[in-house]
Amino acid sequence: MREEKLIKATWVLPAWDREPLYQGAIFIRKERIIEVGPAQELRERYPAVPVEDLGEALIFPGLVNAHTHASMTIFRGLAEDLPLMTWLHEYIFPVESRLRSEWVYWGAKLALCEMLRSGITAVCDMYLFEPYVIRAVEEAGVRAALGEGLFDFPSPGYGPLEEGLRLTEDLLRAFAGHPRIRVMVMPHAVYTCSPETLKKAARLAERYGARLHIHLSETAEEVSQCLERYGRRPVAHLEVLGLLGENLHVAHAVELTDEEIELLARKGVSVAHCPESNLKLGSGVARVPEMLEAGVRVTLGTDGPASNNDLDLLSEMRTAALLQKGLRRDPTVLPAREILRMATEEGARALGFERCGRLEPGYEADLAVLDLTRPDLAPVHDPLALLVYSARAGAVREVMVAGQWLMREGQILTLDEEETRHWVAGIAQEIREFLGKS
Ligand SMILES: [Zn+2]
Repeated sequence: MREEKLIKATWVLPAWDREPLYQGAIFIRKERIIEVGPAQELRERYPAVPVEDLGEALIFPGLVNAHTHASMTIFRGLAEDLPLMTWLHEYIFPVESRLRSEWVYWGAKLALCEMLRSGITAVCDMYLFEPYVIRAVEEAGVRAALGEGLFDFPSPGYGPLEEGLRLTEDLLRAFAGHPRIRVMVMPHAVYTCSPETLKKAARLAERYGARLHIHLSETAEEVSQCLERYGRRPVAHLEVLGLLGENLHVAHAVELTDEEIELLARKGVSVAHCPESNLKLGSGVARVPEMLEAGVRVTLGTDGPASNNDLDLLSEMRTAALLQKGLRRDPTVLPAREILRMATEEGARALGFERCGRLEPGYEADLAVLDLTRPDLAPVHDPLALLVYSARAGAVREVMVAGQWLMREGQILTLDEEETRHWVAGIAQEIREFLGKS
């Protein structure tokens, strides 16, 4: 590997709050960005450094998928347009009870291929058999914050809860100080985890200085169940149990009162907004403008591919923006800049990757490159608007994480896409046979 390189393109967008640079370049040493500026200037300053010219393209900070269940690609399209509980109890849970480690591994690899193609460089993943997701992540070379989903009931991944906590602890130890992988403690939700389980999870996270991730206030049903069972809404429930804090990252947060939004902001809790999953499952629309106004850190996630049905964070940005504008009959809410902030810097911070999400000196060289020779990405009046409102997954041509190219000229270098699709097709056949569908 070359220690130093200079990459240039017609456009460089250093960050959500910076002006795009025409004919820009980035000087990278090992995994870090040393300098960003006009290509001409950087070439003169570093004449001995090899230049990689990406041509008519836009270099932008790699996107952060702040909530997903990557391996659920194997369930994509399996059962559609059903009420959530029917979908879960008649399809997903029965198949998941037979889940095997190699299904998780190949499902995650397929997901990572897809995510690279939409410019995702970091991902937050919760699932079962998570060590096999970690294996896929290590092969792919992306950055990830992940953990084993913890439930009260026995899991096919680890058996009884105590084993799940032990597995999480083993992973926390094994990956302490890893440059790209962060292990998080991940109790699934307030309706699948008892107060005792949640407290155990919080204690474990505290002991290792780890982050916590949970689904929270996703549906009205979750809120009413929580009220019935514990006499308080999910946010208050977590507050009483001592989980609300800066190390807590929650997914969805659709059903929030004004007071709950204030509380999340005050406690420094971050939220992964997953608009397409919320729409598809008929859960509703999160109050993103109110959360931002109150100072909540809002990030963007795709959620699992079985409820989206893709892992395209570029289209998720567009949906997030359009949804609020339409709902409020106001085109000025959630401007493109704010959306990009959620999908880059805020996502990185929520996952604990402090030096990611911007292309600036001292930051990790995590970036993606948009092909500007496509008809759907011309002309270039405003590169940032093009990225948020016009770009789709297939338009990403290159991806770099920690100074290493993972995808170049549309070819994924670290994973074998064809082999992966082949394996997943075989798994899908097994799933259909089990469900008596073919
Ligand atoms: Zn989820």
